[in-house]
Amino acid sequence: MRSSLYLIAALSVCFAPVFSTSHKYDLDPKNWKPEDVITRDVAIVGGGSSGTYSALSLKDKGKSIIVIEKKARMGGHTETYIDPATDKPLDMGVIIFHNITVVRNYFKRMGVEIIAFGSDADPNAPAEKAANYDATTGKEVNVKIFSEDEVSAAFKKYAEILDKYPKLDDGMFLPDPVPEDLVMPFGEFVKKHDIEAVLDTMFNYNPGLGDILTGPTVEQMRVFGKTLVNSLSTGFLTTKHHNNSEVYTKATSELLSTNSLLLSSEVVHTSRTDNEVKLLVRTPTGPKLILSKKLLISIPPKPPNLHPFSLLPTETRIFSTLLNAGYYTSILSHTGIPDTTRIINYSPSTPHNFPVLPAIYSVSPTGAPGLHFAYYGSLLGNETYPLEDEFVKSEIIKAVKTMQAAHPDMFNASEPEFVEYSSHAPFYAQFGAEDTRRGMYGELYGLQGLRSTFWTGAAFRAQDSSLCWRFSEEVVLPMLLEGL
Ligand SMILES: Cc1cc2nc3c(=O)[nH]c(=O)nc-3n(C[C@H](O)[C@H](O)[C@H](O)COP(=O)(O)OP(=O)(O)OC[C@H]3O[C@@H](n4cnc5c(N)ncnc54)[C@H](O)[C@@H]3O)c2cc1C
Repeated sequence: MRSSLYLIAALSVCFAPVFSTSHKYDLDPKNWKPEDVITRDVAIVGGGSSGTYSALSLKDKGKSIIVIEKKARMGGHTETYIDPATDKPLDMGVIIFHNITVVRNYFKRMGVEIIAFGSDADPNAPAEKAANYDATTGKEVNVKIFSEDEVSAAFKKYAEILDKYPKLDDGMFLPDPVPEDLVMPFGEFVKKHDIEAVLDTMFNYNPGLGDILTGPTVEQMRVFGKTLVNSLSTGFLTTKHHNNSEVYTKATSELLSTNSLLLSSEVVHTSRTDNEVKLLVRTPTGPKLILSKKLLISIPPKPPNLHPFSLLPTETRIFSTLLNAGYYTSILSHTGIPDTTRIINYSPSTPHNFPVLPAIYSVSPTGAPGLHFAYYGSLLGNETYPLEDEFVKSEIIKAVKTMQAAHPDMFNASEPEFVEYSSHAPFYAQFGAEDTRRGMYGELYGLQGLRSTFWTGAAFRAQDSSLCWRFSEEVVLPMLLEGL
């Protein structure tokens, strides 16, 4: 009895500053103190890549906005670790952008300088040494390598196929009926079109997508569409300071200075009608009531994230069908691996040597002495959070130690430590082949505008920041702005 009283007392201390009982689900502004009611044209949920871009774009178009971000920082998958020993920023999330108008305009507007990716590489830096190892045994894998000519011929042919679906470069605007080529497993598609030489580049450019051979072809095409294929030959952009979080630091200051951002905050209850949206938001300074004309949701639309939004049955049905993978990033010290060595995990016994997921993808140089990036991925499935962080971490350490043990002549036996670790699950929300065939992307896009609610982000476009910005700017915001 005593202990449960203590528990109740402890709980009320925890929750008291956040919620007074009178506000728990009260969406009537008359019952709120005026200073706790925020009235805006648009409320934006999620301050990652798409949410931040959309917020600034709407602000520039003269609309009042408020961004609700659950973390204490903006940026989402863009994460930059500053190595304390060298002060060097290490982008462990988003690194590259396409050289397209929306990207150039955005960085210019933010006052963040961009350069051609790789253009500032130090010509005197020691060359990187790449090794292909099986992380389960540490042994070298003899990966089938296509010649440069074979790879470029395959990409040329792939680009010609993409030309048949020009609208795919703007979003998941699929022909009706959906052509069989788009839903067949990508492994069969590349065989059918004799373009297997594209696979290795796609696998390495675009991890976190699950098994690329069994997933539907259109899931490759939505990220590896015409824009990315062009960038392979014209080159990518990155920020001059190699600190992609700069945009988000600046956005945070700008939005905080105009009372347009709530960090460490979450929507807990919602009312959405055709004319207005009311959001009850938990913030570090107590509950707030947000009244807005429109709502823009940019968080991964998986049901565990969406229950405070009082979903319509059709929204629940569509979002419940989404699959996703898990993608995990980290920075390790004490790997015993030389600073210039990049290890890619390949399997000796699978088609195209791709590792059997879940597995480590790679251990690669960060450019900072003694530190390596390690990336890990899972298969696609229904689970929003497919793997426990402790499991992923122990598997990463196991893989590094296996490689140390297999190559005592090259790697020191030491105890790797996590300097940083980040889970990016749910990653790459997408429909399965059967759901895609029966038109689920059309239904997903059909949700835009229902009950004053609009949607953007990777699930709607692709795991590609540049494409998410272009999609938000050219497809979602024009619809949202109509009648605002
Ligand atoms: C390791 C890694 C490397 C990548 N590299 C590149 C690259 O080089 N180039 C590139 O273009 N793309 C890259 N991407 C993909 C890119 O990051 C995504 O396409 C982009 O971030 C998607 O934007 P988004 O707005 O959908 O999601 P996010 O950027 O993840 O933003 C979602 C935001 O919503 C917040 N949120 C979640 N739930 C809630 C909630 N309930 N309430 C409030 N807020 C919430 C999150 O904290 C987050 O800030 C990379 C991704 C990863 C993981």
